[in-house]
Amino acid sequence: MADKTLTAQHEYPRIYLKRNKEESLLRRHPWVFSGALSHAEGDPEEGAVADVYTAAGEFIARGHCQVGSIAVRVLTFRQEAIDVPWWEGRLAGALAMRRALGFAGPADTDCYRLVHGEGDFLPGLIIDIYGEVAVIQCHSVGMYLAREEICAALRAVIGGGLKAVYDKSSRTVAYNAGLDAVDGYLWKADGYALPGEGTVTENGLKFAVNWERGQKTGFFLDQRDNRALVRRYARGRRVLNTFCYTGGFSVYAFAGGATAVDSVDSSEHAIRMTDRNIELNFGSGAPHRSITADATRFVRDMEPGYDMVILDPPAFAKHLKAVPNALQGYKRLNSRAIAAIAPGGILFTFSCSQAVTVEQFRTTVFTSAAIAGRNVRILHQLTQPADHPVNIYHPEGEYLKGLVLYVE
Ligand code: SAH
Repeated sequence: MADKTLTAQHEYPRIYLKRNKEESLLRRHPWVFSGALSHAEGDPEEGAVADVYTAAGEFIARGHCQVGSIAVRVLTFRQEAIDVPWWEGRLAGALAMRRALGFAGPADTDCYRLVHGEGDFLPGLIIDIYGEVAVIQCHSVGMYLAREEICAALRAVIGGGLKAVYDKSSRTVAYNAGLDAVDGYLWKADGYALPGEGTVTENGLKFAVNWERGQKTGFFLDQRDNRALVRRYARGRRVLNTFCYTGGFSVYAFAGGATAVDSVDSSEHAIRMTDRNIELNFGSGAPHRSITADATRFVRDMEPGYDMVILDPPAFAKHLKAVPNALQGYKRLNSRAIAAIAPGGILFTFSCSQAVTVEQFRTTVFTSAAIAGRNVRILHQLTQPADHPVNIYHPEGEYLKGLVLYVE
């Protein structure tokens, strides 16, 4: 064992930090910014595993290096080899937590996030489970280069319940790394016919998920708990679900006893999937209208009469510079919805922009309420569910913010 540790110590190229730049790593933050780097030894290639050393020559972390402002994403603070058993260990840890929380088992939910990047100590890696299929999405070059090892480890950890592993990294891995990433199956079980999509169960409700054509990995698992809250309050309400994607909130609204639901999205594919998902759960007679339209305009011209409204737009701010414009966008949307919702209406409003803080979002919604001139009370403050955990040393991992408002 002593020998192995010794080899592991010398196996990887070294990156040295400038003086006094180890502070955040000592606090277990998993990123090293390029400005903190002094020089490298051993010529680490983009995506390779490298060791990070302090200016004084002490080992501090081991991780994937990449060209860009985040120069190293930390995999471990120990000198351990990053090999298939290591990946198995990390994935087994992620799975054990999901099982302990009641995922990966109960029959009424068979889709969940198994790996949530930094929240599972695997920066740059997302793995979502849709029944028998796992979808891997790499957000860093290092994870992309390791995808075959990750796939092997995943198979070992999940075992017989897994039938296929789909890699969907072509749009998330850095384009300028020149990887020419193409989406496709990394593995499938012998004789398993690839349908390209499947039906999953979430809280007892059915959803068609198309991981090949759909957005993100196919389904927005992060809204699971918030959708359940819509079900709780939907009884007797006329619901408007904007930015509906494949109709998650719409299905829950009907399940909770909504009298009518209108679903709006700009993507025709998403709208078709919404229709399918309504039919899958409630047959063809549900009082549902699906509308392919720009939801911002739809809300601007919104008819009064809805007594539950859901606003779940895509990330308006993809980086810090875009935050002021994003806040303007949230303000327009929310002020209009608050103004038009029926008295006693319940508004679910979200922001999934990581760059927008909880405080900024709340202040923006507060301003919107003031512009609308209605009495508004906050019923719930929402975030992402437990299978999207936040590493406490990496607060940036908390991205989903939501408010449930009661509008008099
Ligand atoms: N609420 C959904 C997830 C929403 S994701 C769920 O629970 O599954 C954001 C959605 O907004 C995507 O489906 C995207 O197609 C849609 N979208 C983006 N811009 C839009 C616009 N201007 N008008 C309407 N829909 C838009």
